[in-house]
Amino acid sequence: MPRREFLKTSAGFAALAAAGPLANLASVTAAEPTRARKSYGIQVGAVSFVDEGTDKVLDLFQERGAIDTIYLTTFTYGRGLAGRQIPGQPFPDHGSPESDEKTFHGGNYATPHPEFYRDTVLKQTRAPDHGDLDIVANVLPAARKRGMRVFCSIEDVFRNDVPGVKEVTEVDLQGRRGGGLCLCHPDVRAFWTGLATDLCKSYDIDGILFFNGRNGPLLNALGASHAQSIASSRVTCFCEHHQRAAKERGIDFERARQGYQELDQFILAALKGERPSDGYFVEFWRLLVEWPEIIAWDRLFDAAKHQVLAEVNAAVKRVRPGLPVGFHIEHVNSFNPIFRAMRSYAELATKADFLKVVVYNNCGGERYANFIRNVGSTVFRDVPKEELLRFNNHLLNYGDEAKLDELATAGLSADYVFRETQRALAGVQGKCQVLPGIDIGIPTSKTSRKASPDDTYAAVTAALKAGADGLILSRKYSEMQLANLAAAGRAVREAQKG
Ligand SMILES: [Zn+2]
Repeated sequence: MPRREFLKTSAGFAALAAAGPLANLASVTAAEPTRARKSYGIQVGAVSFVDEGTDKVLDLFQERGAIDTIYLTTFTYGRGLAGRQIPGQPFPDHGSPESDEKTFHGGNYATPHPEFYRDTVLKQTRAPDHGDLDIVANVLPAARKRGMRVFCSIEDVFRNDVPGVKEVTEVDLQGRRGGGLCLCHPDVRAFWTGLATDLCKSYDIDGILFFNGRNGPLLNALGASHAQSIASSRVTCFCEHHQRAAKERGIDFERARQGYQELDQFILAALKGERPSDGYFVEFWRLLVEWPEIIAWDRLFDAAKHQVLAEVNAAVKRVRPGLPVGFHIEHVNSFNPIFRAMRSYAELATKADFLKVVVYNNCGGERYANFIRNVGSTVFRDVPKEELLRFNNHLLNYGDEAKLDELATAGLSADYVFRETQRALAGVQGKCQVLPGIDIGIPTSKTSRKASPDDTYAAVTAALKAGADGLILSRKYSEMQLANLAAAGRAVREAQKG
């Protein structure tokens, strides 16, 4: 048990005491579930503190953004939460205007303590990006001094050259290894619980936000998420651990594989415009009827994913019972009725203290249009895409959003933010907090909607009017223009005045 680390970071405790009642209050309230207290957070990666200075960044968050909670990117190999602006996108008006494309690596930006990784092959994950810097140890005392809370963001995004990763990757329909890490693999599960335990034992943090935006085989086969291409021949996972998990649930492994092969054939034919005599939708539904293992296998993916979430939460609670754990609820939840049917807010609320529900409205237009084009080229190919969009809007209870060819440039409205926030609040029934993720400058293609101060103000106001327990400005500070951050802060302060 590395108390020494804990104590080292708590050199900040001296500062804490010196900082007076405000900081002390923050550390007390952080240890208990904070249902009544709204929290205003921002996602930020290590590089921003390195580039701009920890104190300067925190001051700016407080002054301009009315921020009281930092979601500090602590573990990921992805550029969505870590690193500077992604390559090819304009830099914001702060930070270094040089691309880190060549130097970005990712990993654990804190200090991994080996005793927590004994039961996993994933032992070496320290991010080399900033030398010896331990970003949690660095930010924590400075945040405490200002009465701000610090949550560690950890994300299920890896790279294939991490030692041990090749032994625990998924197996696809063709028997090839690759893709993500298998969530049924005991080493992978031990990694996540080890990481969560390490972070809350070694540092006096205020909680964990866990990101896992991965989809199961059915959605991947259909390309039924906004960001992905249709990948029916590469769906996962058919490894030995999944075989065993299937057996325990009475699912026939061979029939699942055959079902996905049939689905693959259907998708490939649909993409070529080879219309089944009964039409695309009927043929798709018939596949689901004749091969119920297709849905069973998809649910097996979700079961493993949610089991990992529950295990992470339990691991954190074993260390500190009052420490909150939240889950990022991915954007596909906004667009895709099939995904929605597979998620229950009420059920998620039993596993988390808060849900960060993605309601990104600027990039939402582009992403929603992609989703409609994907499903409109397979399952719903018989329906003109504009009509499919209208129909889907009704299914999702969306109001008056833009037409398909204007959706990317228009983005989604503040009304969408309001409705999705309300739906989440109704779903969790007060059993956990709902913190909408607000889109500030999430990269989109050149002609698509970009955040403006007015958009940001409207989205934040809509989320808070809907009754949200706070919000999380997303995806990362190194993508955000300061005027947009200030607009969010203005909306928060006006809402606080009432
Ligand atoms: Zn597997």
